[in-house]
Amino acid sequence: MAELSNCITCGVVFLKAYSPLCRSCYEKEEQWYSVVSTFLKKRENRLVTQADIILATSIPAKTLNSFIRSGRLMLQDHPNLQHPCERCNQLTQEKRYCANCVDELSAGWLTQTSQAIEENNNHEALNRYSLKNTLRKEE
Ligand SMILES: [Zn+2]
Ligand SMILES: [Zn+2]
Repeated sequence: MAELSNCITCGVVFLKAYSPLCRSCYEKEEQWYSVVSTFLKKRENRLVTQADIILATSIPAKTLNSFIRSGRLMLQDHPNLQHPCERCNQLTQEKRYCANCVDELSAGWLTQTSQAIEENNNHEALNRYSLKNTLRKEE
């Protein structure tokens, strides 16, 4: 399903089908992706940092960051390739949040969910209680 949308990179209006990027930005990004992945495949580039890649390939930092964040680039072989966590700014190889934040966020989510379940149960218990009372009154 295609709809009119603004390209997230250059803002041009285009028919959006699969990618949030317009055709020319999409092609540019694909080119950058192949440049960077070729660069990273070289054994001598194992320990590069983001700055090294930008310097060597002149890829825009924003594009490189989006590759790292989206998890498209395989980072496990490149321990120095990290980006700041979106929550606490600590350098990480995870996608958006560092492992700590992922733990905290999922713990928070779990507490919220179990609280909601408890509230629901209480609600049900209350309903049952008042139903019992009503029945008793009718006896
Ligand atoms: Zn564009
Ligand atoms: Zn974090």
